Amino acid sequence: MKIGFHGGVRTVTGSKHLLEVNGRKILLECGLFQGRREEARKRNSEFPFDGASIDAVILSHAHIDHSGALPALVKSGFDGPVFCTEATADLLSVLLRDSAQIAERDVYYLNKRLPQGATPIEPFYTRRDVEDTLPMLEARSYNQTFQVTTEVSAILREAGHILGSAQVVLDIEGSDADAPPFRLGFTGDLGRDHLPILRDPYQMDGVDALIMESTYGDRLHERGEDLKTRLAGVVSRTVERGGRLIIPAFSVGRTQRVVYLLHELFNEGRLPAIPIYVDSPMASEATEVYRRHPECFDTEASEWLEKEDILGFRRLNYVGSVEESKRLNELRIPCVIISASGMAEGGRILHHLIHAIRDARNTVLIVGYCAPHTLGRRLMEQQPVVRIFGDEYRLRAEVEHIGGLSTHADRHDLLDHIRGMSSPPATVYVVHGDESQSLAFAGHLRTEGITNVQVPREGQQFDLLTGRSLDD
Ligand SMILES: [Zn+2]
Ligand SMILES: [Zn+2]
Repeated sequence: MKIGFHGGVRTVTGSKHLLEVNGRKILLECGLFQGRREEARKRNSEFPFDGASIDAVILSHAHIDHSGALPALVKSGFDGPVFCTEATADLLSVLLRDSAQIAERDVYYLNKRLPQGATPIEPFYTRRDVEDTLPMLEARSYNQTFQVTTEVSAILREAGHILGSAQVVLDIEGSDADAPPFRLGFTGDLGRDHLPILRDPYQMDGVDALIMESTYGDRLHERGEDLKTRLAGVVSRTVERGGRLIIPAFSVGRTQRVVYLLHELFNEGRLPAIPIYVDSPMASEATEVYRRHPECFDTEASEWLEKEDILGFRRLNYVGSVEESKRLNELRIPCVIISASGMAEGGRILHHLIHAIRDARNTVLIVGYCAPHTLGRRLMEQQPVVRIFGDEYRLRAEVEHIGGLSTHADRHDLLDHIRGMSSPPATVYVVHGDESQSLAFAGHLRTEGITNVQVPREGQQFDLLTGRSLDD
C-alpha cells in the first residue's frame, strides 16, 4: 500500500498522486503541467508510469492543473473509468476542449517556424483525444460511497472551491489479511467558508493520512473587510472619471464570483447605470454549466435563484463573437469589462488592456493570483511601461487589487480544517503550493502537533501505513 507523487508537489501545477493497493493503481488528479514551454510539452506527453496500468482516475475538480493531462493519459493507453462529480464532468467538456485547442494552436505556430525538412512537433493531445476521453467520465454524487477497486471505496465531499469541486475520502480494506482498515483523505483545492454561490467546505475527520493543498499555506487573505464596498468604490471612482473598468478574471470560478457580487450591488441600487460585459467565450460556457447545476448552490444562492437568474441581470451582457468584442473598444461611455485570462497572459483581455491602460481615466482591477513575470503581475506592480503582443504601452490607468476574492483557503482556513478534526491524521502530505508556501505550511502543521508532516519531492513514494519515504 503506497502513495507516489508525480507532479503538483513543491509547485501548483501538474497534480498526479498515485495510490497503489495490491498492485491496483488509482490516480488522484491528472493535472496539466504549466510552465516553460519545452518542459511543459515533455511533462504533459510523457508519464512516469504506464497509462494502461492505471485502473481508475479520481478528479477533485475541473481546473486544468488537476484535470488537463487526462486526454494525454487516454492517448497513452488508459481506458477509464474517471470518477468526478457531475458538475465537474460538465465543466471538463468545456475546459478540456479549450485546452486541446490551445495545444493544437501552439504547435501550429511552432511548426510554421521550423526549418524545412524538420520533423513537425505533435500537440500533446488533440480535440479528438478529448472526444475519446469525455465518455470515460463517470459522475458520482456528493456524499455517496462508490467502489473504485476491490479494496478501495471512495466518497466525494464538498470542497467549496469552484462548482463541482470535491474533497476525496478513500477507504482501503483487506489490502492484506492483517492490515487494519485505512482511511486516506485528499483535500483537492480547498475553498473557504461563506463564498457566494457555493456551499462551505465539508469538515473532514477520522482520516489516518491526509494529502493537503497549500497554495496559500503561508499567506492570509484580506478579512473582515467588505469586498463589495471596495468593488463598488472602484466602479464609482472609474465612472466619475468617465473611464472604463477592466477586470482580468479566470473563466471558471472567479468570473462568476465577480458577476454575483455586481448583481448584488445592482439589486441594492449601489451600481451606477453603466453596462457590464463578460467578454470570454469560455466564461460564458462555464456560466451556462453553473446554471445547469443549482444542486451545487448554497441555501442563499438557491433562494435567490427561485426569484431570478443569479448570473444574469439587465445591464449584464455576455459577449459572443470577436466582432462584438472589438466593438466594445468603440464604446465612448463608462463600462465594466470582465475578460480572461486571469493573469492576462492570453485571450481577449489583452485587446481590452491595450485600449485601456494608456488612459488615466480607466482602471484595471486585479482579482486573483498573478504568477511572477505575467502581464497581470506587471500591472499589479505598476510598471511604468508594459509589453503586449511585442509592443510597449505606457501604463497610466489606475491599477487596483482586491485580494480577498480568492476561492482558495488561506493559512488560517487550512489550519482550521485540521483543528476541526476530532482526531487529526498521523501523517499529512503537503502538496499543491509554491515550494516556500508548502515548506512554511509544513512548519505550521508541526506546531499544531501533527507528528509526521511530509513535503514530497517530485517522484517520491511513501509507505501509506507508516508514512515513511520508500526512497530512503
Ligand atoms: Zn482549483
Ligand atoms: Zn489547483
